[in-house]
Amino acid sequence: MIAFPSLNAAADLVEKLERERMLSRGEFKSLLAGRTLPGLTARLFERARAARRAVYGDAVYLRGLIEFTNYCRKDCFYCGIRKSNARAERYRLSREQILACCAQGRALGFRTFVLQGGEDPYFNDRRLADIIGAVRAAHPDCALTLSLGERSRASYQTLFDAGADRYLLRHESAAPGHYRSLHPAGHSLRNRMRCLSDLRDIGYQVGCGFMVGSPGQTDDCLIDDLFFIKDLQPQMVGIGPFIPHKDTPFAGEQPGGAPLTVFLLGILRLMDPALLLPATTALGTIHPQGREAGLRAGANVLMPNLSPVAVRKKYMLYDDKICTGDEAAECRACLERRVNAVGLAVVVSRGDCAGFLRAAPASACSPASEPAPIPGPVVRRQDQFFSVPIPAFNPIPELSPAFEPIPAFVPAPISESPLTAKITELPHA
Ligand code: SF4
Repeated sequence: MIAFPSLNAAADLVEKLERERMLSRGEFKSLLAGRTLPGLTARLFERARAARRAVYGDAVYLRGLIEFTNYCRKDCFYCGIRKSNARAERYRLSREQILACCAQGRALGFRTFVLQGGEDPYFNDRRLADIIGAVRAAHPDCALTLSLGERSRASYQTLFDAGADRYLLRHESAAPGHYRSLHPAGHSLRNRMRCLSDLRDIGYQVGCGFMVGSPGQTDDCLIDDLFFIKDLQPQMVGIGPFIPHKDTPFAGEQPGGAPLTVFLLGILRLMDPALLLPATTALGTIHPQGREAGLRAGANVLMPNLSPVAVRKKYMLYDDKICTGDEAAECRACLERRVNAVGLAVVVSRGDCAGFLRAAPASACSPASEPAPIPGPVVRRQDQFFSVPIPAFNPIPELSPAFEPIPAFVPAPISESPLTAKITELPHA
């Protein structure tokens, strides 16, 4: 039984997290229990912004998202493009369409492209390596991120050798029982963690992440996620609220909340000030000012959509996804306004993780960002370049349990969307 902490006790935990970059399981439990204490979120977010500013200044990085296939061989219960959803209208972008999206993105100031898709066997290593090579040749100053699900180590190596820099693979839940409740038999948390371990070892900048408020998730599950992230030491962590999709087994489930999502963003920023943390589209979907709230809580990445408008609505992982009708240039301008409104600035940069150096020959791949000193006992992981011993990554998690003042945050009126109707307020920062 965790006692509800006083504001002073919870604020002490925020200070300890900032100082030591980690809390015990019991301390995380207390901090999460106290998340609605008046004034606590303001304290957490203030420290999180300071940590971000110490590493990245006021910079917000854009990633141009190209959703190039919605075919998937997997059947995750929460996902609108799962293979059993016969109502999903399937599509694949051609190599030429993908290159056209990149060219448009480059002209709009994007310096990272994210090729995202379901686990589509059509895109085998040969086809993907060809596309990756073509993107690299056309845009040598840009970073290339892949988000293609679980593959073999040999496949990840092939794609890395072809020129991919980063890989996003959300683990979704580090709590095995919870993971099983989100996926059908045959979907393996062990394999997902094997993938993340392989990606890390190969030399990718790695991103993991999870949904907040997914069915059956408890604070203990979230703490398992935080411990897993501490173990893995990824360069990126993507979290967003769970939002149900009408054609999935979770259609009738309650969505996750924006307040808990942004609270966790603040915690993650203090755990690792150098993390690249997106304020996700799901956060903007669940609340009209969700992305701004995410930036105020310590996020520093936005991922606007570069896919052709004609296919955007077909990549519907969850209901009511925003930004499916706007042209790329409109999205870019809209996001810049949102970023500026919270006192930050969009920068034209690859936006590599501070302190990360790519192991491969660097002619076209060297990071553009200047690594800043990282406050606190954070160890960046890139074995070839750091003398500190790197702890072995255990792919099976333990199961135990001064910155510039930022204007006051005024939440927009809440719409009557069923997704946002239950949200009355986001934490003020
Ligand atoms: S979450 Fe990913 S792997 Fe699972 S069904 Fe959706 S696209 Fe496929």
